[in-house]
Amino acid sequence: MVEGEKKEKVDVNPELGEVQVISLGDCPICGGKGTLKAIQHIHEIPYFGKVVESTIYCERCGYRNADIMILEDRPPKLYTVRVESEKDLFTRVVRSKSGTIELEEIGVKIEPGPAAEGFITNVEGVLERVRETLLMAREFRKQEGDEEAVKNADEILEYIEEVKEGKKPLTVRIADPLGNSALIGEKVKSRLLTEEEIKRLSLGPYKLVPGRGLDEG
Ligand SMILES: [Zn+2]
Repeated sequence: MVEGEKKEKVDVNPELGEVQVISLGDCPICGGKGTLKAIQHIHEIPYFGKVVESTIYCERCGYRNADIMILEDRPPKLYTVRVESEKDLFTRVVRSKSGTIELEEIGVKIEPGPAAEGFITNVEGVLERVRETLLMAREFRKQEGDEEAVKNADEILEYIEEVKEGKKPLTVRIADPLGNSALIGEKVKSRLLTEEEIKRLSLGPYKLVPGRGLDEG
């Protein structure tokens, strides 16, 4: 039986795909006793490496926050991709909480902050997140009677649709002073962040992203 036990432990790739649940104790939000947990999951991203996706959640109040960590040592870099066709929408996006995403042509910035979340997706997925946030903010502005803001949101939403159809270009950038975020794809260009940029990124004030007005924190 000893052999059998051994075999079970030496799995093909033990940590890959395995989901770990860790107990973190009491919830700081609702005070629930022992209700705060973390789920950790390791993904292997082709041509890139292993990343850990961890989600902290409370069983009692539903608090939830996700983050991403790249397991290999990565220098702090700026990644850029110019999305010009539908194919480019599949460029992978690994964003940790410390990553800043910029969508140049529509003037949207997703910055680190208390409510920031880490995620692994592609450019299309990022556009979908922005679209959802914009729709929420648009509704809010509409109720306030802010027609200018509604018009602005409509223009960005229209531009996003055209990017999705490959009719309009979009420059996507991601920068992370901790090296935990990246863009992955054939067309992606990258360079090391300068000291100046790193300073600006980590100390930069939390700015309101257009359409993110409803975010907590
Ligand atoms: Zn809670």
